Amino acid sequence: MTVADAPSVSWEAAEALRAADPLIADLLAAEAERRADSLQLLAGESLATPAVLAALAGPLADKYADGYPGHRHHTGCAPADTVELLAIDRARELFAAPHANVQPRSGTSAMLAAYAALLRPGDAVLAMSLEHGGHLSAGSRANFSGRWFRFHGYGVRADDGRIDLDEVRALAREHRPKAIVAGGTSYPRHVDWAAFREIADEVDAYLIAAAGQTAGLVAAGAAPSPVPYADVTVATTHKLLRGPRGGLLLCTAELADRIDRAVFPFSQGGAAMHEVAAKAVALAQAATPAHTGYVRRAVAGARALAAALAAAGAPPLTGGTDTHLVTASVAPLGLTGVEAERRCAAAGLMLGRCAVPYDPAPPTETSGIRLGTGTCAAQGMGEAELGEVGELLGRALAGGAAEPVRARTRELARAFAGRP
Ligand SMILES: *Cc1c(COP(=O)(O)O)cnc(C)c1O
Repeated sequence: MTVADAPSVSWEAAEALRAADPLIADLLAAEAERRADSLQLLAGESLATPAVLAALAGPLADKYADGYPGHRHHTGCAPADTVELLAIDRARELFAAPHANVQPRSGTSAMLAAYAALLRPGDAVLAMSLEHGGHLSAGSRANFSGRWFRFHGYGVRADDGRIDLDEVRALAREHRPKAIVAGGTSYPRHVDWAAFREIADEVDAYLIAAAGQTAGLVAAGAAPSPVPYADVTVATTHKLLRGPRGGLLLCTAELADRIDRAVFPFSQGGAAMHEVAAKAVALAQAATPAHTGYVRRAVAGARALAAALAAAGAPPLTGGTDTHLVTASVAPLGLTGVEAERRCAAAGLMLGRCAVPYDPAPPTETSGIRLGTGTCAAQGMGEAELGEVGELLGRALAGGAAEPVRARTRELARAFAGRP
């Protein structure tokens, strides 16, 4: 396979790249080959649609457009303004949100803007702790969030793996946070946004919905929307929304100005207008029946995968999943997360190790794995195929001869590689 054969890379662009920089062209070809030769099950991954990639490669990649439509610091922004207004309108309509900001370059920078709009350095924030499924942008000491704010972590119950709302309420009363972050990045169940709203109201805190993983599901009506409950909803556009890598902020009308100023000029300079154009495309596509079908496949596939893992002796945390995500403990198989990840990768199954709640293993080893069906479902796989992938995972985890499993994952990957 060459770069040009990879779905959604235009022939012209690939030729120009090969002529100018054969080394990078070869490496991109290697990545296309890697992807076509194994099954991509990393939790945050999916495939941007060809239309999204075309918008990313379009002429707005070169445009400077600091500011917002109608209020730019640069000239020549007429098409860019209309593109951004369309992206904003589509986001507002898709999520029934009073206000949207489509400029954040990533989920993490969208979180930064949400904090900047609502908090001052040193304020207390209550968020899902990292080892229970939270994201590093919600309190990791290695991240600006943990350095600049006083984070307190809530977790999941030891017995059923679900968010412990009683603990959330007790911690909120104890610490009186200025904001509560609801949801995380490794939590496979729906989040009870209404319950979080109630707790936030009780302690007079802002509610930030961490919807990086769930926004694509919400768009398809496959998960409850946080938008009616949260003051600010933080989403990514590259996970199940299948857009460009990037962030998206939704908020109340009251917070619109503060959110906009927290993105530009507080935390970012010029908007990446090609990304904004690609977000507009993705947001329109996310309103179609094709997207609904994609999300249904991803969720049904994740359920089948979770069931197969349970049968193979790697129990899914929370007992299953409501989403495209599956987390499972590999400790009953006598494995660490690191060893499980290695065995699966050798069998052509690309997933990630992860800490399980109350993990006795050190963070460098972990006792769990985390996977998602976003890419496989985008390639056209559904419940039947992902159920089989789950069986292959079980065989890979059990050890034994890797070659038969490797042969079958390669066959599946090839069969579905060409589908956008
Ligand atoms: C994916 C995710 C992020 C981070 O997004 P990046 O674009 O990788 O910075 C933040 N929060 C949540 C809840 C996520 O799922």
